[in-house]
Amino acid sequence: MGPTAEELPRWRAAARIASRARDLGVGLVVPGARRRDVADQIEAFIRAEGAEPAFPTNLSRNDEAAHFTPGPDDPATFGAGDLVKVDVGAHLDGAIADTADTVEVGGTRRYENLIRAAREGLRAGIAEVRAGAEIEAIGRAVAAAIRARGFKPIVDLTGHSIERYLLHAGTSIPNVPGHASGRLSEGEIIAIEPFATNGVGSIGNGPFGNILRFRADPGPADPVLARLYGRFRTLPFATRWADAPEEREALRRARRTLQSYPVFVERGHGWVAQAEHTVRVGAAGAEVLSAPVGP
Ligand code: MN
Ligand code: MN
Repeated sequence: MGPTAEELPRWRAAARIASRARDLGVGLVVPGARRRDVADQIEAFIRAEGAEPAFPTNLSRNDEAAHFTPGPDDPATFGAGDLVKVDVGAHLDGAIADTADTVEVGGTRRYENLIRAAREGLRAGIAEVRAGAEIEAIGRAVAAAIRARGFKPIVDLTGHSIERYLLHAGTSIPNVPGHASGRLSEGEIIAIEPFATNGVGSIGNGPFGNILRFRADPGPADPVLARLYGRFRTLPFATRWADAPEEREALRRARRTLQSYPVFVERGHGWVAQAEHTVRVGAAGAEVLSAPVGP
């Protein structure tokens, strides 16, 4: 599968926007910055570039691995020493890119090696990508790179294939060996996203992360809900994006038809670093779509 030659420029353009949004976010996560402002600014940038966020900006912190975005009334600020995963997505008409990096706030440099482990895991995984390669080889390479720095890969978080309007399209890209079968096919789009930790290497569900998703079209019966579905379709969205009183009310009514995302917290409360790129599987190697564009 994967985008056609005609669709591919849109996937590349979405990924360039996501890449710049990620780097913008990395620069905004400084001591005293409000979490909610950082998320809003990243998403405003994506919209100003003509794309839409493909999911709420995740700003998971410390032992939170993923799926935290600030709620509408979030008062928190970042503090020196926080370890923040800036995970952003942009889409152009359903062509999605998903990319992340980790920042240690305020330059305390206690978790530099953990951040390096995640980035090296990502690089090692990307090096295995080519049409026909076993998916398992990616997990093997990611895990080896993270363990080489003395940390653990998180076994129950994986990368994923991406299709139009589908962030998690069905194929998992594990960060350890023994969890995948099958091979990569030419032209498909995948996200590789190692998580490294000094904890036990698995996650549990924490509190609600302020992220929701329509499982299916709710139909026209509830006009507020129908309008929200028209905006977000089946992509994840933030409660921040739908916080007008009538929208909050409609979402409460529809609670059972919505998927609700808990924050993933490291089971041993170890701290977590993540790095992620969206890549296209080429005949001879990966095209890293979300790589930095500038110096
Ligand atoms: Mn991501
Ligand atoms: Mn992802």
